[in-house]
Amino acid sequence: MSESTLEALRGDAKPAAQFGHDALVVCDNLVRIFQSGSVEVQALQGLDLLVDEGEMVAVVGASGSGKSTLLSVLSGMDAPTAGRVRVGRWDLMAMQARDRLAYRRQMVGFVWQQTSRNLLPYLTARQNVALPMTASRRHRAARVDELLDLVSVGHVADRRPREMSGGEQQRVAIATALANDPQLLLADEPTGELDTTTAREVFDALQTANRESGTTVVVVTHDPAVSGLVERTVAIRDGRTSSEVLRRDAGGDVTHEEYAVMDRAGRVQVPREYREALAMTRRVRLALEADHLAVWPDGSAR
Ligand code: ADP
Ligand code: MG
Repeated sequence: MSESTLEALRGDAKPAAQFGHDALVVCDNLVRIFQSGSVEVQALQGLDLLVDEGEMVAVVGASGSGKSTLLSVLSGMDAPTAGRVRVGRWDLMAMQARDRLAYRRQMVGFVWQQTSRNLLPYLTARQNVALPMTASRRHRAARVDELLDLVSVGHVADRRPREMSGGEQQRVAIATALANDPQLLLADEPTGELDTTTAREVFDALQTANRESGTTVVVVTHDPAVSGLVERTVAIRDGRTSSEVLRRDAGGDVTHEEYAVMDRAGRVQVPREYREALAMTRRVRLALEADHLAVWPDGSAR
């Protein structure tokens, strides 16, 4: 590539603002190491993730890739070992115990995979949804019913969890998580225990929460079909974000495009299929063109 191309490209370069300054959720080089005895597990290994206010993002990845660890950190239940993590005005690294409680009450809602973990068994749906409001002294009966209706479970308002189906329980759990109008709703495989049809209803409920109340949603899922339902699917591999699938709807014409994620040091993971197809191993040759980069396997002809 010529010097003049490089000059032309430099001319357009904007000064770098702080990473994710306008995002609601910022994970910057997040590390979480678990120590059990002499064994060290690196659950998150420099994970970067930005989520904008109002977005609904799905997180996918193999079992053990760090998805739950990420959600525990974002929920304020776990603290990272290193890196930077901010949600809204809350810096989750620096947060003291008292702020942590306030953060969890005001800022985030959480839905677990295990239906039994989300609701208190001896309370009705209505009482479950009211509970977080009472804890923060914001109980309003009308709001409770509004939330149950929002996720289409008004008909189970007076039932206890064991009198509801799994899908109904999870939708009541979403209503409960929304009780204090959190800006961020986190759900860790909320459909993992459900059949496909019921899973879809629960997923719809999350989408409704996102669209109707503008709640930002991060949902971990095993379901490969979700990338068809959300705008952005982030894949985690070995504790790092590795790729993103963006769904674009151009006049009813839906396309899915896969992107590799680049970190701030410029590192990009080349998918294994691509590396294998071109026998790329330790080194590659790069060339800057006017509007793209070219990558060649080591030893290829110039
Ligand atoms: P996922 O949700 O993607 O299946 P997790 O975040 O649960 O992955 O786990 C990531 C890695 O961290 C796994 O190797 C897991 O065994 C380990 N891990 C998670 N939590 C703990 C913990 N509390 N103590 C020790 N290791 C843990
Ligand atoms: Mg998990």
